Amino acid sequence: MKVLKFGGTSVGTPARMKEVARLITESSEQKIVVLSAMSGTTNTLVEIADYLKKGNREAANSVINKLRAKYMTHTKELHAAEEWVIKTSDFLEDEFMYLHSFSGTEFTATTEKTILAQGEMMSTNMVTNYLKEIGIKVMLIPALDYMMTDKNGEPDLAYIENNLKAILNENPNYDIYITQGFICRDAEGRIDNLQRGGSDYTASLIGAALGADEIQIWTDIDGMHNNDPRIVEGTTPVRQLHFDEAAELAYFGAKILHPTCVQPARFAGVPVRLLNTMAPSAPGTLINNEMQHNNIKAIAAKDNITAIKIVSSRMLLATGFLRKVFEIFETYKTSIDLVTTSEVGVSLSIDNNSRIYPIVEELKKYGTVEVDEDMCIICVVGDLDWNNVGFESKVTAALENIPVRMISYGGSDHNISFLIRGCDKQAALQALSKKLF
Ligand code: ADP
Ligand code: ASP
Ligand code: MG
Repeated sequence: MKVLKFGGTSVGTPARMKEVARLITESSEQKIVVLSAMSGTTNTLVEIADYLKKGNREAANSVINKLRAKYMTHTKELHAAEEWVIKTSDFLEDEFMYLHSFSGTEFTATTEKTILAQGEMMSTNMVTNYLKEIGIKVMLIPALDYMMTDKNGEPDLAYIENNLKAILNENPNYDIYITQGFICRDAEGRIDNLQRGGSDYTASLIGAALGADEIQIWTDIDGMHNNDPRIVEGTTPVRQLHFDEAAELAYFGAKILHPTCVQPARFAGVPVRLLNTMAPSAPGTLINNEMQHNNIKAIAAKDNITAIKIVSSRMLLATGFLRKVFEIFETYKTSIDLVTTSEVGVSLSIDNNSRIYPIVEELKKYGTVEVDEDMCIICVVGDLDWNNVGFESKVTAALENIPVRMISYGGSDHNISFLIRGCDKQAALQALSKKLF
């Protein structure tokens, strides 16, 4: 069994939905198809929730009505037979009535999550109905029946596996199973989600739960490129990545893959393939357990980073200083990305500065504290084993004209990271591409 996930642009118009239907019905093997909301829909749902939160029902209702009009046009384009236009539009009308109904209720965190979940509800229903219309044996499996997180907000792997397998065992005779990405229930059974962009995570969790042959992430580009194609011209696809390399790239900003997506697939040993819906025969990128040697693979960048430096003469020859510093970050549930140390100080980077004020207050007990905001991590990924000569010097040389705040190397065999000013990101990415590829 393969798991295929199609992102927002891949189901962004009725024509694209039909193309997805063509792709998934090309071969006869059974497959699970995870769908995102149509592109732009989740953002619109965020806008609706935001108006409701602010008590502006009129604006929320006006945005809902605009979205409704769009979907009604889509329905007519999607189906050939009037009977199916009616079925899909009846479903969608109920959806929009449901969205309007939140105007009359108290706004809670669950209201917001429930509103955000409707994009995937609509896209999966539309594609399922289209497949039925063209005569495919398809079943829509509601993600809310099996996708659940535990008390810590982490996926409840045992629950997911047991429930999904039970559903499949009870319904064995379908060619295609469609399900929603992104959405889930929390440990209390309330509607929740796996964070923005989390449909990739859904696919990986399903692939791992079922021990799938392969997880395919279908998007709008031919696999992982060797640099951010939104910033650098002439980037090219990387044909193979080790799970660790893919995880680093995703975590450090390569938007094509959600950072959480790699882990379940890797633990279950299921390869992940990144493919292009717009060019289905292109080879894309295969992510598996193989490490290619003597090769720098790709570069990614992560914005909105804060750097914190703590300088203290007390650190000199002292034990336990770093522990005290790290404990402060742990207390405020703030994870650290990069760390560099010297004999008298330590520099750290964090990507969530919501607790920066109490953190800095506590750190001041141990030394002089400096904070730099609007920084950016540049991460170069590939075979950076320390025994290889020349790679790290080549990477560093590419940044000769950029002020570098921190360099992190040696934490793993496949990454070197630099902290620079956010405003230097474009120049740094371009310089690295020029030097390395
Ligand atoms: P989807 O909606 O299918 O989940 P995303 O927008 O989340 O798609 O991810 C695909 C986008 O990721 C591409 O259109 C591309 O602009 C962006 N991207 C950023 N970095 C990379 C990279 N290194 N390789 C490929 N795509 C990248
Ligand atoms: N629809 C959700 C989002 O836009 C999830 C996803 O597409 O992966 O974030
Ligand atoms: Mg995505």
